[in-house]
Amino acid sequence: MSASNNSRPVVTRFAPSPTGFLHIGGARTALFNWLFARHHGGKFLLRVEDTDKARSTQPAIEAILDGMRWLDLDWDGHEYYQSQFWARHAEVAHELLDRGAAYRCYMTQEELAAEREKAQAERRPFRINSRWRDCADAPSPDAPFVVRLKAPREGESVIEDRVQGRVTVQNSELDDFILLRSDGTPTYMLAVVVDDHDMGVTHVIRGDDHLNNAFRQRAIIHAMGWPEPTYAHVPLIHGSDGAKLSKRHGALGVDAYRDELGILPEALSNYLLRLGWGHGDDEIISREQAIEWFDIDHVGKSPSRFDTKKLENLNGHYIRAADDARLARLVAERRGGLSDDQLGLLQRAMPELKARARDLNELSAAADFLFAERPLAMEPAAAALLEGDARENLARLHAALSSLPKWDKETTEDAVRQVAETTGLKLGKLAQPLRAALTGRTTSPGIFDVLVLLGQGESLARMQDQMKTELN
Ligand code: GLU
Repeated sequence: MSASNNSRPVVTRFAPSPTGFLHIGGARTALFNWLFARHHGGKFLLRVEDTDKARSTQPAIEAILDGMRWLDLDWDGHEYYQSQFWARHAEVAHELLDRGAAYRCYMTQEELAAEREKAQAERRPFRINSRWRDCADAPSPDAPFVVRLKAPREGESVIEDRVQGRVTVQNSELDDFILLRSDGTPTYMLAVVVDDHDMGVTHVIRGDDHLNNAFRQRAIIHAMGWPEPTYAHVPLIHGSDGAKLSKRHGALGVDAYRDELGILPEALSNYLLRLGWGHGDDEIISREQAIEWFDIDHVGKSPSRFDTKKLENLNGHYIRAADDARLARLVAERRGGLSDDQLGLLQRAMPELKARARDLNELSAAADFLFAERPLAMEPAAAALLEGDARENLARLHAALSSLPKWDKETTEDAVRQVAETTGLKLGKLAQPLRAALTGRTTSPGIFDVLVLLGQGESLARMQDQMKTELN
């Protein structure tokens, strides 16, 4: 299927309601819209749907914009705020009235409640059946009213959805939904259609919880005689147990992935891309490749399952690929209060530190030994490595290392090997207590890297601390 929609240039949009943080489902919707637009050389717009003034908040707006920037999903032009267009929404509602496609409905709350009860008693779904649909006379000049769409009642409506395929709804199931409330404010259903039209949106890519709305929105589009956008309703994300994603599954805001879980944006972005869309067996997909390959027709129809392990593995990959100075900065931000010298040390250590870390928290923990205060606090397992004759060996290593005129990986390794030869001990037998003394842990980067990173003075002092401990 061609991407062009009546040969109009491609325009997509992300239209979040700022009632909470940018959750990962929203982030994936934004990413798909962004990729689709970039793939087709079109435009990607951001429209904040703040019509629900009571529930929309400024911190939520900021969290959404911040999350998009972090994920590097840049939008074209400035962001739009739906509430700016209320007058325009009302204008369209009035045009629909003029065209006879909408009507003023004067049904009272009591009448509505009675209808609802009747439907319940008759065990049939409630549909608005307003006698005002075909009656233009107001009950009194100042009687309150809402404006309702005169929805089609006969036949069926079909949407050729790019993800869901052909979806058919009987028009008898559509109701005469409200366009303007009695206070004159537009509903979401009207606002979204008017804005999409005015912004030239050609492709509506969003969560499939909006599929039913699409049929209502199309009824407005048809009544106005506007071009219909192409729809692509993407399945929601489920947890690993198949249930709808909830907080329990890690349905956090993207800011929590960044701040609490220490995920890199390129890892989250790659993960979200692969969630529901694929390009063969490719797991690692760069932005450039994603732009080149992304194609809405290959988004799966069934819900995808969120898999934290996969995200962590991808994150580990991106950490290893990331620039050392950038990683050092990110770790320094998490630790706070590092001097320039310490930042330099962190950066020098980064090639070793990043080899095993799956997130920035692990990366930061791996760097602990660099900044640990003497005498080092020992992990119990590390303390155990210093028992028996280990301290004697540590003293031998100390003697050999303190006489070195030059301090690098080769000279320190030679010195340790020589001690191994003269004592007849295996290198590992020497390296273990040395690692414990230098880092307080049983795992660390390669022992000679550790020696070089700490420097001769600090290394010897840390060894000495543990040699002394034995005497006490
Ligand atoms: N504002 C709606 C939401 O956040 C999205 C509307 C749309 O994409 O059409 O669910």
